[in-house]
Amino acid sequence: MKVCGWGKYPVIESNVKQLRNIETAQELYNSGTDFIPYGNGRSYGDSALADNILACNKYDYFLSFDNRDGTLHCQSGAMLSDILTAFVPKGWFLSVTPGTKLITVGGAIASDVHGKNHHIEGCFSSCVEEMELLLPDNRVVKCAKSDELFKATCGGMGLTGVILTAKLKLKKIPSSTIEQTTIKTKNLKETFEAFEAYSHLPYSVAWIDCLAKEPNIGKCLLMVGDFCKRGKLKYEPKGGLGIPFEFPSISLNKASVSLFNTLYYRKAPEGISEQKVDIDSFFYPLDSIGNWNRIYGRKGFTQYQFILPKERSYDGLKKILDTISKSGKGSFLAVLKLYGKANDNYLSFPIEGYSLALDFKIERGLFRLLDELDRIVLEHGGRIYLTKDVRVSSEAFAAGYHKLKDFRALRMDYKMDKHLNSLQSRRLGL
Ligand SMILES: Cc1cc2nc3c(=O)[nH]c(=O)nc-3n(C[C@H](O)[C@H](O)[C@H](O)COP(=O)(O)OP(=O)(O)OC[C@H]3O[C@@H](n4cnc5c(N)ncnc54)[C@H](O)[C@@H]3O)c2cc1C
Repeated sequence: MKVCGWGKYPVIESNVKQLRNIETAQELYNSGTDFIPYGNGRSYGDSALADNILACNKYDYFLSFDNRDGTLHCQSGAMLSDILTAFVPKGWFLSVTPGTKLITVGGAIASDVHGKNHHIEGCFSSCVEEMELLLPDNRVVKCAKSDELFKATCGGMGLTGVILTAKLKLKKIPSSTIEQTTIKTKNLKETFEAFEAYSHLPYSVAWIDCLAKEPNIGKCLLMVGDFCKRGKLKYEPKGGLGIPFEFPSISLNKASVSLFNTLYYRKAPEGISEQKVDIDSFFYPLDSIGNWNRIYGRKGFTQYQFILPKERSYDGLKKILDTISKSGKGSFLAVLKLYGKANDNYLSFPIEGYSLALDFKIERGLFRLLDELDRIVLEHGGRIYLTKDVRVSSEAFAAGYHKLKDFRALRMDYKMDKHLNSLQSRRLGL
């Protein structure tokens, strides 16, 4: 059947097997063909794509929950959205969540996803107490935080084995309402100052107008917040509009992106404003628009996400925003985030600094622009995020990840390289 990632590029033909029990995965290992696990297809590029796919989203039971310390034991196909529905009313929330709840626990571990609280809580792996991994020799091993297999699997893009179950530590919340403060800035300097001034708050994220020109390069709406100290505990998932068909790709051009950016920036009052919002509006604004990936048209799109070390972030971002603005290839979504310290995992993306994520429709000249951005990222000591990637070169990728050698060695030791491969792993020699 035809499969793709969230960016709808590339679309490939694959043999898909559904993980219902351990034996399905063991049979795949025994068959000698290599494959890649697939969660809910919310990674943008080719990390979950291969000729043979093991779909894990039906392997999704909750196994136990300890109400005293918030430890949830679940199968890897469980969705974050199901965890929220079951546990927010009981006063528990995900310790770390990305900007979509429509992903599986396995996908969250394999990408070692981060959220708006990375500068305080780190990546998803920080709330994983233990997991069970099915190795290519058909052994099920328990991995704890200090194990090499844990460090390789969190951020390892499904290339170390099939994650079967995980024990996650949820976070206690006093209410399900978030007190949000929005800060409107005029340029990158003000944006950085605002991030630092509010870094004591657990959640922060900024939307940047990536087509703005000097002197307004880097102007943004920074949203920061925390859960209210008192209030109701309720969770009503937001449904709503869906995009019914792929937009003609002509509709997304410099003029429409520029208009969107201007209107979005205008919608917030000048200076600082405060709002009370619910979980879905604060953490998952895009999930309420079904199939929003269709607005980029039939050819699909890609998200370019990089991170720069803190001391070089200002100069690097300025250069990158200037290059994008001159290219005219703007993005509706340009998300800037502050990150805390890197963890010990081999391929986890975050380092202490700032990251920017930008969506671009696939069109002629785009990959040339992104190669140019890669050069600036590497010049400034940064790296590219695998779960969003579909085109980075193996050299540009390797230059950003200093533990890649250890990851490759471990893959060979356990013969993972013979059994688990994706389009991305082949392109990058992972
Ligand atoms: C709107 C939107 C917002 C997002 N925001 C963020 C964000 O803020 N921060 C962030 O870090 N990411 C973000 N992402 C990316 C997303 O969180 C990750 O791509 C996540 O890994 C997708 O999970 P999935 O279950 O859909 O897995 P898939 O996309 O299907 O797979 C992702 C990877 O996980 C592996 N995998 C899946 N299941 C298993 C398993 N059982 N065992 C072993 N490997 C497995 C796959 O092989 C693949 O390499 C966002 C994505 C979207 C669409």
